[in-house]
Amino acid sequence: MKSLPRFTLGTGDRFTQEGEAQLSAIQAAADRGIALSPVWNKSNREHTIVGTKPQSLRNEADAAVQALGWSGAYFVDADHINLTTVDSFIECSDFFTLDVADYTGKAASPEARAAFLAKHASLIGTHPLPLLDTPVTITKEDMERTADNFLWAMQEAGRIYRHIAAKKDRAPFAVEVSVDETDTPQTPGELLLILAMIADEGIPAQTIAPKFTGRFNKGVDYVGNLENFEREFDADLAVIAYAVRTFGLPANLKISVHSGSDKFSLYPVIRRLVAKHAAGLHLKTAGTTWLEEVAGLAQADGSGLDIAKDIYAAALPRAEELIKPYAPVVDIHVPSLPSAETVRRWTSSQFLAALDHNQSCPDYNPQFRQFLHVAFKIAAEMGPRFADALREHRDVIARRVRDNLLKKHIEPLFA
Ligand SMILES: [Zn+2]
Repeated sequence: MKSLPRFTLGTGDRFTQEGEAQLSAIQAAADRGIALSPVWNKSNREHTIVGTKPQSLRNEADAAVQALGWSGAYFVDADHINLTTVDSFIECSDFFTLDVADYTGKAASPEARAAFLAKHASLIGTHPLPLLDTPVTITKEDMERTADNFLWAMQEAGRIYRHIAAKKDRAPFAVEVSVDETDTPQTPGELLLILAMIADEGIPAQTIAPKFTGRFNKGVDYVGNLENFEREFDADLAVIAYAVRTFGLPANLKISVHSGSDKFSLYPVIRRLVAKHAAGLHLKTAGTTWLEEVAGLAQADGSGLDIAKDIYAAALPRAEELIKPYAPVVDIHVPSLPSAETVRRWTSSQFLAALDHNQSCPDYNPQFRQFLHVAFKIAAEMGPRFADALREHRDVIARRVRDNLLKKHIEPLFA
């Protein structure tokens, strides 16, 4: 097992150009005493859309680390993989996010179900957990329903884990189990039972990504009830600590917040609860770096702004296709998006006002921002024109990528 530090930041980078800018944000944080390790993550979905191979992310991470002389830990995450997609990631990754959301709701064998219910019968009841005002209660029905929904999926996580471990041949790696892309959120009681299943499978999970209550849409703030989230997150952290003590999971097991970028209203809550429980945290920021690339091009004006507008104009007629792979994590009402003609007339500052995640700006348009978030396929199709523009406007983009991570994400959560 490759041990994860207490705080890690997932820095996805669709076009693998911003590794140094991302690392410079973490380096600046380190200089101020914030201990944070970067995890470069990219899913098979993103590699497929952009047309890159997993090795390119490893190359990017290693090059950034070498260029900046980073001496801390860093990781390369095969994000959201399963048995059908993992093989091309094995060699170049040392962190694996086992995504078994698609396997939930499938029944395990009657024998496995009965064995699970018998082994963990003592979990039925009320658990007054340390630091928690309201105890976590699990009924017999909860237990049976959770077994029906998750046991087969966690057995699948075990199969993926063992497949990787066999191919890794003792080379150490870190494991996350993710069920964040399911239809319904998991309750803290369900999380406890899921962790029991993970332990039974012998998976040395160091992070767990549940689906939380409310909407975690790409690139925009949390949509939901803050008090409900706070209660749930508080209980989730207590449940994780309890599961570590009870099931023998790795002592540094921590929670992972997917689509975690830009959830500004949640950051004070998360920060307070992580401190309260002396817990760890893995925050995946993913595509927010790509949005800074578009914003940087728009900010550069001239040919940069033209490219940003061309991406939007080409994306709009293909909205359905672009949104589809991200449907669970965006809320985009296509008819309310500005027309391509409207955007064509925008100045650099108008484009930025709509795109920048600044909720106090009256022209900020979260629909526009979410839509551009899923439109990176268009930039990939532009090929050298987009790649050359990133190079040409490297300075303005790098500054934006760094400031976005440092000031909007790292400082509010970890400083
Ligand atoms: Zn995710």
